[in-house]
Amino acid sequence: MSFQNQITGLILAGGRGSRMGSVDKGLQPFRTSTLVEHVIARLAPQVASYAINANRNLTRYQELAGNVPVLPDYIDGYAGPLAGLQIGLQFCPTELLLTVPCDSPLLPADLAARLHAALSEQNADVALAVTMQTRAGAAAPQRQLHPVFALLRTSVLPQLEAYLASGERRMESWFKSLRVAEVLFEDDAAFSNVNTLDELQVLEQPPASAAAPSAAPPSAAAVASTTGNAGSSAARSTGQHDSALHVEQAQRLIAEQITPLDAGHTVPLFSALDRVLAQDVISPINVPAYDNSAMDGYALRGADLPDAAQAQATFKVIGIAYAGRPCALEVQAGECIRIMTGAAMPVGCDSVLPQELASAISDDSVTIAHGVIQQGANRRFAGEDLKQGSVALARGKLLRPADLGLIASLGMAEVSVQRKLRVAFFSTGDELRAPGQPLDEGSIYDSNRYTVFGMLTRLGCEVIDIGIVRDDPQALDAALRSACQQADAIITSGGVSEGAADYTRDILASLGQLSFWKLAMRPGRPLAFGQIRDGADSAWLIGLPGNPVAVAVSFYLFARPALLAMMGAQAPQLTLQARAQTAMRKRPGRTEYQRGIISRGADGQPEVRLTGAQGSGILRSMTEANCMVVLGHEQGNVAAGEMVDVLLFEGLI
Ligand code: AMP
Ligand code: MG
Repeated sequence: MSFQNQITGLILAGGRGSRMGSVDKGLQPFRTSTLVEHVIARLAPQVASYAINANRNLTRYQELAGNVPVLPDYIDGYAGPLAGLQIGLQFCPTELLLTVPCDSPLLPADLAARLHAALSEQNADVALAVTMQTRAGAAAPQRQLHPVFALLRTSVLPQLEAYLASGERRMESWFKSLRVAEVLFEDDAAFSNVNTLDELQVLEQPPASAAAPSAAPPSAAAVASTTGNAGSSAARSTGQHDSALHVEQAQRLIAEQITPLDAGHTVPLFSALDRVLAQDVISPINVPAYDNSAMDGYALRGADLPDAAQAQATFKVIGIAYAGRPCALEVQAGECIRIMTGAAMPVGCDSVLPQELASAISDDSVTIAHGVIQQGANRRFAGEDLKQGSVALARGKLLRPADLGLIASLGMAEVSVQRKLRVAFFSTGDELRAPGQPLDEGSIYDSNRYTVFGMLTRLGCEVIDIGIVRDDPQALDAALRSACQQADAIITSGGVSEGAADYTRDILASLGQLSFWKLAMRPGRPLAFGQIRDGADSAWLIGLPGNPVAVAVSFYLFARPALLAMMGAQAPQLTLQARAQTAMRKRPGRTEYQRGIISRGADGQPEVRLTGAQGSGILRSMTEANCMVVLGHEQGNVAAGEMVDVLLFEGLI
């Protein structure tokens, strides 16, 4: 195997670009294209495939580079190159990762080859580039390390994660804990990076002898020629489909790209259930609107309450106040008004004696002992729940029954909600037959469309059923165009796995910008995500795998949050922990979602068991289950009695 096949490239473009005025360095124009495209042109021929680490403009990077993965840091806050390295190592499908910065457009053409040779010879963890630099005024050339030009074994990831977890961020001090091979490169200019806009300008006009390669670098588009055609053989030959993304990473990539539709309209309150609020609900009134009693009892003046010396006091009952029927009388010293819960506090009263705390009650008087209530007791103040002009419910809220009640309590009969998301869906596969049709040899009934229909409907989407689409380029093309014209989003199932007919991916890819991911999860390994276009129409597309359980699981994990994000809604997740009733087999290196039944154990604590066979085609395991047991990426086998994470179905699907 040639060394290239073992190496994945990582372009570090995740920096803040502070010294350039916070511009996104990689995207800076440079010699008719951009800095990152020059880096791609130099890097791509040296590696099997590559990814870009970026924290801004992810879509732009993806457009420039074709459908290569664009990976944002796991750690927030532009934590520096090590954060980029972390996500790169997590992602890296090969044994070795080669990092280069996005702002060194002249990087050496033999970088990978020479670093690789040293790494193998010295059996090091990392190989780094070094040059000798003569600084102005210095007598002798000095050794200059270029730590961001590094070839690393992916096995160093645990060490890096531990280092980052300790709060450290410096690259050079991390390298000190590793076996490092240094490789001396003669051409110092090849490592020159661009930190300021001035430097960029200087580089823009290179002297004739500058370290340009003998042949002009091929255009980035030519090297990484996957733009709009991720399914082409060119894309596949880069080996990028061999990379398994972590679930969280794919979720994050989706979340980074989707922006909410901005399309609110007003509906009557009875039509607003399960819809997403398009605007904050501002309270037009105080709630409650007036001071009132929290109890059935007697409203009185707190100043008249008996003190210790008096031991008790008797009040004359002069009237009665009902909810909705206030009492207009004004109490004087020693008087009170019988009052019902919710009735307006009579003028002069500030306290309510609950009737069960009275020590004696007659028709026209009530006696109270010292210390039974404090002044101000059981009085609800106007605006105590909600002040006039304050936000009662925030935009983006998925309206549940109690929310409707709250809005009604403000006197509002209508509310502004996002228009329903229009989602087209279809199943792909020559073997599929619609229920109700005869089943000929080798065919199966299409179940996915019904699962997807149910999940979309539960999410409050307007569903557009495109039916079953044969594995046929024309049929697929027509279905996609039709879906694209009608819908905001498209959910398909089948046809995205490795074994699937090649053209399925090609057709999907030819209509837009799609990424085909292999995910480190089970069930549900393949997933397609992106945007397709037909003329002026565009729609997001999520291509789910074909296997029925994988469809349900990956819909929940990827489609649901994506669709909720389009609606501008938060995706509430009901995760809890339960004790495993039995041992569970689990292989580290992927996230597993097993179908489970959660119940109350003998000790009252939640416990969970699996529903039996967990094959990704066994839908029965899904219908028997009331939850999914989530076994994390690194996790191994689970022993009975251990706590596991659980996602409840109810409320989700
Ligand atoms: P694919 O990803 O298209 O290769 O499909 C993977 C597996 O899922 C195959 O066994 C398909 O027959 C099955 N499958 C695909 N679509 C459906 C569907 N709509 N309903 C039931 N099974 C399906
Ligand atoms: Mg298929």
